[in-house]
Amino acid sequence: MYDYQIVIAGAGVIGLAIAMELSRSGYSVLVIERNSSFGQETSSRNSEVIHSGIYYEKNSLKARLCVEGNNLLYDWCINNDVPHKKIGKYIVALSKDEEERLNTLFNKGMQNGVKGLRFASKDEVIENNCGIYCTKAIFSENTGIVDTHKLMESFIFVTIENKCEFAYNHSVKSVKKENNILKILVSDIDENIFEISSQYFINSAGLGADILAENSGIDIDKNNLRLNYCKGHYFKISSRLNNIAKNLIYPVPPVQYVGLGIHLTIDLAGNLKLGPDTVYTKSRELDYSIPEDLAQKFYQAAKRYIPQLTLQDISSDQSGIRPKLQRENEVFRDFVIQDEKANGLENFINLIGIESPGLSSSLAIAKYIKENFIK
Ligand SMILES: Cc1cc2nc3c(=O)[nH]c(=O)nc-3n(C[C@H](O)[C@H](O)[C@H](O)COP(=O)(O)OP(=O)(O)OC[C@H]3O[C@@H](n4cnc5c(N)ncnc54)[C@H](O)[C@@H]3O)c2cc1C
Repeated sequence: MYDYQIVIAGAGVIGLAIAMELSRSGYSVLVIERNSSFGQETSSRNSEVIHSGIYYEKNSLKARLCVEGNNLLYDWCINNDVPHKKIGKYIVALSKDEEERLNTLFNKGMQNGVKGLRFASKDEVIENNCGIYCTKAIFSENTGIVDTHKLMESFIFVTIENKCEFAYNHSVKSVKKENNILKILVSDIDENIFEISSQYFINSAGLGADILAENSGIDIDKNNLRLNYCKGHYFKISSRLNNIAKNLIYPVPPVQYVGLGIHLTIDLAGNLKLGPDTVYTKSRELDYSIPEDLAQKFYQAAKRYIPQLTLQDISSDQSGIRPKLQRENEVFRDFVIQDEKANGLENFINLIGIESPGLSSSLAIAKYIKENFIK
């Protein structure tokens, strides 16, 4: 009756986690990806941090799925040999005003059910991170780092083991409902168009998710689903400073924040990186260039908590683009994960605005989809 029970658009960490989860439950799954391989967009252009769930509005999907996803991700990494490290992070205050905001942040984390959170003294921070300045901090024990590429590979491995399929170099154009069956219009690299039928369609197309919904007849402006692209750049720090920090170091986020503030991350090889900033772009081009003059901004932001940093210590690294529902002047927007029954497309499940903490939440999102939308 159907070609597949589940068709998924997008082989980023979210689509792959969902494919893995549903394939384990015995569904026939096809993942369609417009690029020639998996994880070529946002999933490979991020901080690779396993967040604990501190920052998000109480009861939001971001808060709930991040807290649950944090646990699930560590278990998964341990059981599937995915390189990761629970290195912990300090959120550092540098003034009385920031210390007060640290209190608010701490309470938010506690309300969200984040485990392993505590206040830390300046002395404790410096003991572990000799190059960092602060007056007080929060320590988050359950924050860590993960090799995202290996994580995605591990999801694919299980999905293929369960005999599910991948179609790279294919793009989903639109989806329509006919006689209770979802008909998915797909184009290949030569623009040949064909149709696939499915019981469920999962739109985890990241930066393309809103347009795919629009092309399928959903009014994304009326439904407040139009994405804003928000670029985040990274600068690497010279290896001469590799020993200044053992933990991730985050500033207290700006009051009206759309990101977490330019922070110091460490990759699994021990290299230090600064980023990401938040730059909304008008264009929807996937432009990953890094303007050289941004170095000054990164230097100014980071030297507050890394006093010995010099401008010569930093050089451009990579950038990523956040698929944000939140506009520049908005305070908070949650992940949208919904069945589009109200728009005449029952069993079309839209995931829109899956920005940070999407990676941390990936396994919890997959579980949420299975438990709430797949009958
Ligand atoms: C700068 C930055 C830093 C971040 N840091 C963190 C972090 O430290 N921790 C964390 O938890 N999260 C972080 N995130 C968020 C995290 O990276 C994302 O939430 C996650 O990668 C989203 O995965 P995805 O699969 O939804 O999207 P993507 O990885 O973008 O995958 C979507 C896929 O869909 C494909 N696609 C699009 N349209 C179509 C179509 N029509 N047909 C077929 N395929 C299509 C794309 O090619 C792409 O491969 C960060 C994000 C950014 C930008």
